[in-house]
Amino acid sequence: MTQTHQFDVIIIGGGGAGLMAALNASRTAKTAVISKLYPMRSHTGTAQGGIGAALGNLEEDHYEWHTYDTVKGSDYLGDQDAIEFMCKEAVQTVYDLEHLGLPFTRTKDGRIAQRPFGGHTNNVTGKPVRRACYSADRTGHMILQTLFQQCIKNNITFFDEYQVMDLLIINGAAAGVVAYQLATGELHIFHAKAVIFATGGHGRIWEITSNAYSFSGDGVAVTIRRGIPAEDMEFFQFHPTGIFKLGILITEAVRGEGGILLNDKGERFMERYAPHVKDLASRDVVSRAISLEISEGRGIKGGRYLYLDVTPDTVNHYAEVDGRTRPDGTPYRVTAEEILSKIPDITDFCRTYLGIDPAKQPIPIQPTAHYAMGGIPTDIYGRVVIDDKNTVLPGVYAAGECACVSVHGANRLGTNSLVDIIVFGKHAGIDAAKYANGADFQPLPEDAAGLAERTIAKLRSGDGKEKVADISKEMKAVMFDHVGIFRTSEGLNKALDKIKELRERYQHIRVSDQGKAYNTELTNAWELGNLLDLALVTTISALARTESRGAHAREDYPNRDDVNWLKHTLAWFKDGDVTLGYKPVVITHYQPKERVY
Ligand SMILES: Cc1cc2nc3c(=O)[nH]c(=O)nc-3n(C[C@H](O)[C@H](O)[C@H](O)COP(=O)(O)OP(=O)(O)OC[C@H]3O[C@@H](n4cnc5c(N)ncnc54)[C@H](O)[C@@H]3O)c2cc1C
Repeated sequence: MTQTHQFDVIIIGGGGAGLMAALNASRTAKTAVISKLYPMRSHTGTAQGGIGAALGNLEEDHYEWHTYDTVKGSDYLGDQDAIEFMCKEAVQTVYDLEHLGLPFTRTKDGRIAQRPFGGHTNNVTGKPVRRACYSADRTGHMILQTLFQQCIKNNITFFDEYQVMDLLIINGAAAGVVAYQLATGELHIFHAKAVIFATGGHGRIWEITSNAYSFSGDGVAVTIRRGIPAEDMEFFQFHPTGIFKLGILITEAVRGEGGILLNDKGERFMERYAPHVKDLASRDVVSRAISLEISEGRGIKGGRYLYLDVTPDTVNHYAEVDGRTRPDGTPYRVTAEEILSKIPDITDFCRTYLGIDPAKQPIPIQPTAHYAMGGIPTDIYGRVVIDDKNTVLPGVYAAGECACVSVHGANRLGTNSLVDIIVFGKHAGIDAAKYANGADFQPLPEDAAGLAERTIAKLRSGDGKEKVADISKEMKAVMFDHVGIFRTSEGLNKALDKIKELRERYQHIRVSDQGKAYNTELTNAWELGNLLDLALVTTISALARTESRGAHAREDYPNRDDVNWLKHTLAWFKDGDVTLGYKPVVITHYQPKERVY
């Protein structure tokens, strides 16, 4: 039997964005968090490198510099009002986290330590600035632990291992969500005045990815099926340094601590692509450079990987070449122990998955699908907006990686996602509670669970001619090859045909496990449907954008085209068809310029 629960605010997702929203909403409204994972297993927990905020603890820094770097990093597609809001709030937000108990790594005099990260610069000298606040290489883990403890302390209700499958919109406003309980196979209706999607990303569309298995884009898929557009889906970030073949992330902090990228000839090739910031250029720039080195035959031993070298000899050599200094002005020199103490988890990954010691040997890396810049369109209060005029859909909110505010535009800077989830998670929580306190519950329709029921029934009763694993593998391969770092019209069309074919074949799958408890075959199959829908939206959005900007690099249109394309894509999805529209980018202080690194 379908159970019904009632809360003022329902948050879908127990990651950083969801928990931050819950903490803030629960202060004034009856709040619950629904999460398909036990919250501590959310992907936020894997974030390594840091959270960016212009604290200026080790050298001069200003939130205005952070704003400009983010605008530039976004290749001018980010909305400048939202970026300024985020970078300004970031400073207080980091102190808030500190006061909530987050154990940041410290400077010798006890302040929050900071390190350099790609694209973060001193706007006067153009040199890298130490802006990333961190907790060794476990920053996300610490954020998640800290927020979860606070949520428990504040008695927030959690529905762990419930997977939201549908959003209910009645009379043009939020009415709640429908969720599938993994332990029992039952559907539950959550009647709510406001719902906040904080469901994370969708990197599982691609073959090599740093993303958790759970990153299947559920939130975006559920909302597009209910008529909400998806924004800027063509922009998906490839992180330059994933472990070769596995995709597991090697944080940019390794380069922040002095690690150098080398090709088969032992060249520090980033000098050619980004003469000023070299190995610490934006991720899109570094990923393309690695890709070009490999395709021009300079991969290690001719293979499809390069080296990331963080051995003390290499770090010290290039620190001397760069004239790199410590905050006190002395030359930057490291020992193996020092390197290992800054990146203990990375060292473990390398030992476990590669059998190498990064203090003695270089790490084999290749770019890995990492971060969704696009997602559910929102304003700075997390309110979902549904058209080119930014019309608000009352009671529906989104925050974190599933949302597109847009602060990352065409390319996200490292450390800016953790800022995003905390700042916008907080504001979504506050605003949703405020909205709920002034609104009535919408009436629930009789068949509130209808769509979810029909979807499950269909997955259980297909003719079984096709297998989930085959479709998933083919989708990932075609997306990695043709909707990856470099794109062409020919490749994108090939991918589009394939995705359409796979969506058709998906109609013929059948879940053979008829069990109710923890039927992962069923949830996997449903998630594949989400990934296929998002792959379709991504490819169609990418095909239409005939320019290169940020992470979207078209070989057939190699230049950025501000005259025609300085605008956000909105993609509406209906019965398998995608309709595109566009909305203007908000420009306040910074007119688009060429990006120079
Ligand atoms: C390996 C790695 C390292 C990273 N390092 C950094 C870094 O150093 N700095 C930085 O700024 N960014 C980093 N990022 C990016 C950043 O960590 C993520 O973008 C961010 O943590 C996402 O947070 P979130 O709250 O939006 O989603 P998540 O933390 O993934 O949480 C999503 C939640 O949604 C729930 N959920 C999903 N679908 C459903 C559903 N259908 N029903 C119910 N619940 C659902 C899940 O259970 C989960 O609790 C990194 C990312 C990765 C993958």
